[in-house]
Amino acid sequence: MPDYKPCPKCSSVGATKVGYTWWGGILGPSLLTHVKCDNCGNAFNGKTGQSNTIGIIMYSVVMLVVVVAVLVALRLFL
Ligand SMILES: [Zn+2]
Repeated sequence: MPDYKPCPKCSSVGATKVGYTWWGGILGPSLLTHVKCDNCGNAFNGKTGQSNTIGIIMYSVVMLVVVVAVLVALRLFL
């Protein structure tokens, strides 16, 4: 069982990996080591022990760019 950093909110050490999120599907939380505190339910980055908000925003922006790039590519080649 991998040990994650303590929760930034309540300092509890027990956290569970999040398997799926609305913002990142299955890939996003895996890339960002997104974990959820067993004590207070706060979600954070299990590797850094910090909030994942910036990571989530960056992930969303990257995904948006990828989607737009794919759409542009499809328009160019079709
Ligand atoms: Zn907590």
